Amino acid sequence: MDVRLQTSLIAAVVSLALAMSVLVRSRKRRDQWLFGAFGLNVSAWYFTAFVATWLESHVMARVNLALGITLPLTAVAFFAAFVGTPGGPGALRMKRLRRAASLVALTLLVLTASPLHEHIAVRATVLVYVLVVLFTSLGLLYKRAPRAESRFESGRIRFLAVVGSLAALFALLEYLPYLGLEIPAVGTILVLVFLYMLSQSVLRYRLIDLYELSGRLIVLTTLAFVLAGILWGLVSFGGGRYFLHAVVASLVVLLLFDPVRTKLGERLAQLLFRERHALEQSVAVLRRRIARVLEVEELGATLMSGLEASRRVTHACLYLADVGRQSFQLLAHAGPAPPERIETAPARPLLDRLAQGTPVVLDVILRQLEDHRDRGEDREAETLYEIAQTMQAMNTSVCLALRSQEGDLYGILGVRDERMLDAFAPEEVQLLAGLAAQAAITLENSRLYQELEERDRLAALGEMAAGLAHEIRNPLGAIKASAQYLTEDSKDEHADEFLHIIVEEVDRLNRVVGSFLDYAKPASGDPAPTDVDSAVERTVQLIGPECQAAGVDLQLALAGDLPQVRVDIEQLRQVLLNLVRNALEAVADRDERRVKVSTMSVGEPPREVLLHVEDTGGGIPAHVRPNLFVPFVTTKQKGTGLGLAISHRIVTAAGGRIEVRNRDDGATFVVRFPVPTPDPPSDPNPDPSEPPLPLPSGTEVVRA
Ligand code: ADP
Repeated sequence: MDVRLQTSLIAAVVSLALAMSVLVRSRKRRDQWLFGAFGLNVSAWYFTAFVATWLESHVMARVNLALGITLPLTAVAFFAAFVGTPGGPGALRMKRLRRAASLVALTLLVLTASPLHEHIAVRATVLVYVLVVLFTSLGLLYKRAPRAESRFESGRIRFLAVVGSLAALFALLEYLPYLGLEIPAVGTILVLVFLYMLSQSVLRYRLIDLYELSGRLIVLTTLAFVLAGILWGLVSFGGGRYFLHAVVASLVVLLLFDPVRTKLGERLAQLLFRERHALEQSVAVLRRRIARVLEVEELGATLMSGLEASRRVTHACLYLADVGRQSFQLLAHAGPAPPERIETAPARPLLDRLAQGTPVVLDVILRQLEDHRDRGEDREAETLYEIAQTMQAMNTSVCLALRSQEGDLYGILGVRDERMLDAFAPEEVQLLAGLAAQAAITLENSRLYQELEERDRLAALGEMAAGLAHEIRNPLGAIKASAQYLTEDSKDEHADEFLHIIVEEVDRLNRVVGSFLDYAKPASGDPAPTDVDSAVERTVQLIGPECQAAGVDLQLALAGDLPQVRVDIEQLRQVLLNLVRNALEAVADRDERRVKVSTMSVGEPPREVLLHVEDTGGGIPAHVRPNLFVPFVTTKQKGTGLGLAISHRIVTAAGGRIEVRNRDDGATFVVRFPVPTPDPPSDPNPDPSEPPLPLPSGTEVVRA
């Protein structure tokens, strides 16, 4: 068996394996099916060539010729599915080419079946047909490149078209035997390498990275030539024991494969894709560094300095959502300063995209915008235009999302290299997206850390407060008793008045100390499944007479079918009392005195139970809004400023949150409690790598 025969057989087996590696996948896309067909065609072609020569079979030679004729058809069908845009001019031309090629192929197949098949003219026609169809389709592929999503994407399509043409050219050399010319089967190796690249491309979602493609191409070709060289050496020196030589050569290649692939891949990356390699390195270093960061500010500074050091960005910025999600505030930036604040409402289209977790790339947006405008799709174009506007205002060309584990968007990382528009390849964008994901984890950890710190601080404060309260209450008791004693037989009107003031102030101090103790002690209570509706009903009954006396119209709208939530019922009533009392006090001096308490659930099945307390009291004064839940913040003469602080602690301890919606004519406090999910069946082997439990969410203040 000569080398040519052997290569044909090897090529048949390898291309069969490549086709099958795609075809055995459980769920296949159209392009994967078509790749399978193309691969099988190549395999059958090599196999019949092998059998025809080995057995000198004329029938097989004819079958081989027929398979050669169908080869461009399967190739074109695959290329069309691989990159074709439905409806584009490129797709139309590809369709026409396929139709014409099918007609010619049919004629040629008939000729192959006829006695004319040995005629040199028929063989030359086959060669010309294959040449024309393959190169035209590769040409169309090349032309399709500028319409690709980005400069890098088009670079890749061009690369594939060029390598494909080279492979086709070499493969055509395989046809020369039909014309009576015998040349060594050098094309086979290239065809197999190309086929391997294609199989990798269709197995991944996107066109395979140019960087990886060339790396694999060069590594594979090198190894193939090493194998051929070893085989050649062994055959020349050791005689004709082909099988033994092949085994030896294969063993050498198997041993060499991994180290050669790694080393060669690294060298190539440094040589051909220096920029990418540098970015990869910087991002890897940066990811390690931010994993150790605990403070939010430090995170911003580390990210910015790291990105700047990579020399791939001229602008970078990190925005974090404020508590009310009304805007995103600038935390840190590198390069020229971007705006301090991004308002949520106008940036909504961009934020919506980011919330889905996909990076947003300006040049892709601009390209899509042009396409939609061309097609007259004004609504889509408008959305894209707004995204582009926001990104330009932020001075970024790539925006990446910082999302919580639940998918909440709480930050944006933006980068730009002003030296070019599409400065980042899709894989580089993915690298940066990985960095943003790491930053999001760090951010979440830092919040957890801050919360722990806060908890420790509060626990210490609680202990201190208990001692302090004792120290204050004892003398207070004595002062009050003495004042009361003196009032009983005081004849002096003035002294009586002062003594009353003393008693009143002592009572007030006592109340403040009592509330402070409530605030300082841990708000765990006894969380048990609680029906919010019945708790509301009973509390409202309690406060009803107070409302009537104050001439307030207290309305109640209960959902009636609420799922239970886990909260201490007494504490829930305390929250409700605080909110309703505040509302009553807010409407006291208004013409319209209305307070509405309502309950409802959201989600299907219900995820949360909501409790609304709405009043017509004119809203929360602007100066208290930022510190509404801070202890001792009050605008009332006799207020302690602890009601909302205590309510906040109780609600967050129960895993819920309080939101405030301020209107011109009043305020609405919304308390949200999560509905507990039914316990999943217990896992006998809990996974130690499970993500930590979600943090209890904080209070959100929605500013007017
Ligand atoms: P206090 O009621 O003792 O002042 P809170 O913590 O309950 O303490 O309230 C803090 C402050 O928030 C109040 O002094 C008031 O200015 C403001 N506030 C609370 N609820 C309302 C409301 N429903 N409408 C207007 N302002 C309110």
